[in-house]
Amino acid sequence: MTNPSSAESHEFQAEVAKLLHLMVHSVYSEKEVFLRELISNASDACDKLRYEAITRPELTKGDEHFRVEICIDKEARTLTLTDNGIGMSHDELIDNLGTIARSGTSQFMAEAAQDKDKAVSLIGQFGVGFYSAFMIAERVDVTSRRAGSDEIWHWSSEGTGAFTLAPAEKTDLLFSDRGTAIVMQVRKGDEDFLDPMRISQVVKTYSDHVALPVTLKGAGEEEDQVLNTASALWARPKSEVSEEQYKEFYAHVAHAFDEPWFHIHYTAEGRHSYTVLLYVPTMAPFDLFDPKRANRVKLYVNRVFITEDAPLLPGYLRFMRGVVDSQDMPLNMSREMLQNNPLVGNIRGALTKRLISELGKKAEKDAEGFATFWDNFGAVLKEGLYEDFERQGDLLEVARFKTTKGEGLRSLKDYVADMKEDQEAIYYLAGSDPEMIARSPQLEGYKARGLEVLLLADAVDGFWTQSVPGYDGKPFRSVTKGAADLKKDAKEGEDAEEARADIATLTQFMKTTLEGKVADVRTSNRLTESPVCFVAGDSGLDLQVEKILAQHNQSDIGLKVLEINPGHPLIKALAGKAASGSGASDLEDAAFLLFDQAKIIEGDPLSDPTDFARRLGAVMTRAFG
Ligand code: ADP
Ligand code: MG
Repeated sequence: MTNPSSAESHEFQAEVAKLLHLMVHSVYSEKEVFLRELISNASDACDKLRYEAITRPELTKGDEHFRVEICIDKEARTLTLTDNGIGMSHDELIDNLGTIARSGTSQFMAEAAQDKDKAVSLIGQFGVGFYSAFMIAERVDVTSRRAGSDEIWHWSSEGTGAFTLAPAEKTDLLFSDRGTAIVMQVRKGDEDFLDPMRISQVVKTYSDHVALPVTLKGAGEEEDQVLNTASALWARPKSEVSEEQYKEFYAHVAHAFDEPWFHIHYTAEGRHSYTVLLYVPTMAPFDLFDPKRANRVKLYVNRVFITEDAPLLPGYLRFMRGVVDSQDMPLNMSREMLQNNPLVGNIRGALTKRLISELGKKAEKDAEGFATFWDNFGAVLKEGLYEDFERQGDLLEVARFKTTKGEGLRSLKDYVADMKEDQEAIYYLAGSDPEMIARSPQLEGYKARGLEVLLLADAVDGFWTQSVPGYDGKPFRSVTKGAADLKKDAKEGEDAEEARADIATLTQFMKTTLEGKVADVRTSNRLTESPVCFVAGDSGLDLQVEKILAQHNQSDIGLKVLEINPGHPLIKALAGKAASGSGASDLEDAAFLLFDQAKIIEGDPLSDPTDFARRLGAVMTRAFG
């Protein structure tokens, strides 16, 4: 094909020679990225021609169907990639495949020069373009014909310092009258790239949504096979995408089987241009609470897949699935670069704002859908309340709560609108079991006085309630913490002097008896039905927080305060007994049993179940014996 007499020999630019040396000797394990790079180049070449053809339609006349074909020749050990893009002229071949023009590659070289060992691991992250073909090829032959030109040029190199360039005859390698064919002579040890299955898998992984069909040519009788979806769904106008297609794409991009709840699809234009297609799932993925809290939004740059690891969303939106396609990010950026990239940061900020606002609208418009969403992801979203100070206010608006008002979810706006006239705080009760929380004795006094209490059952609730200053100027206050600021109603105020003295004696007795087990014993105004309950001390942590910390061995559970209900018949009877100074051992049993009862209600294990059973037995024997 090449006429040897007319072949020119060219030296690679020094940096390219270095880069090639690295490629040739690379022991990098994810060599398959070369295919992503070559397909991306083909796609770029087609995009360029598509653009030129706007003013010069004759350039694509007769063949307007842009595509990439891959051909495997096992015998010859060649892998060939052909496109009908814009192609390269003699000079373009020298410039493009002999020097490093790309910022990505020069950056790679700069970093690689600093640390030889790191260089290998950087290859995949940078991709390093065309030259990565030399990772799997001992020789690369490029045959190219610039669209609109009669000349065909043949470039050839073994990746060792020089390449040759020669005019070529018309060739079957190009399936069109324009474009580029890249023939890779596959290295020993890299035969997996001669396996159609492997090629197919790599193309699907990295190039599925390059908006260009990538076809694998069948060997012999076999049919040609289109390997990729070949359509960047997100790049199409909304009006041209059906609901069904959105769903299909969701299944594909999220590897999920549920239906998306809703999606948002828009293109941001301005300082940065990017397209967003994000979905909210209806089912929680199994790894939602994985400690890495990694988000799964795929970053594309001009329809070329870059990574799933770019920090495009904060951890508390990690349930989102979909794609962000940037128009002005360089194609090859290392993970490290993406972590601190200001453009990524900008996109994250804008996306976060937009998503929270969309969720807020949904909460108003689709309460039922939102309830399911909240059930799945509310606990995740609430992480933002203490993590993202900037969005705290917005998140509080979106948050919904189960409350003592009954079924259904309530917003804080609802709560505040229904607050009692002299109510100063937003009350909540945090725990781990929703059923148990709803039946907690600590709620009795609030319920009796018609005060609404938020029922919080997520682990995260113990934390944000500590760090969020309030909502609408009202602080959050736990009903298990400190003395309840419930206004006593008149009846209790008129309690007989005598009864109050008796209760004081009982309280003192219990305090002495339970010394070392409780921080304090005191009368309660938060109880109306139960005889006792635990609360945290005035300055102590919320009970729920204490439990969580204890589970993680972060702190010893501090002693709790035991509150007794002075209006309860049992407490009244015990108080009478305590005042009369009789039956000290009965009273002692009662004190311990009440203490254990409070523990049981709290869902805490008894420290000495045998002792509990013995005392209970003794009391029952006295009652029935
Ligand atoms: P990048 O794609 O980032 O520019 P590459 O190393 O991948 O860097 O490619 C270098 C250049 O070679 C491209 O910019 C392009 O001009 C040219 N090129 C590579 N492959 C093709 C192709 N298939 N068709 C036309 N031009 C190509
Ligand atoms: Mg490229």
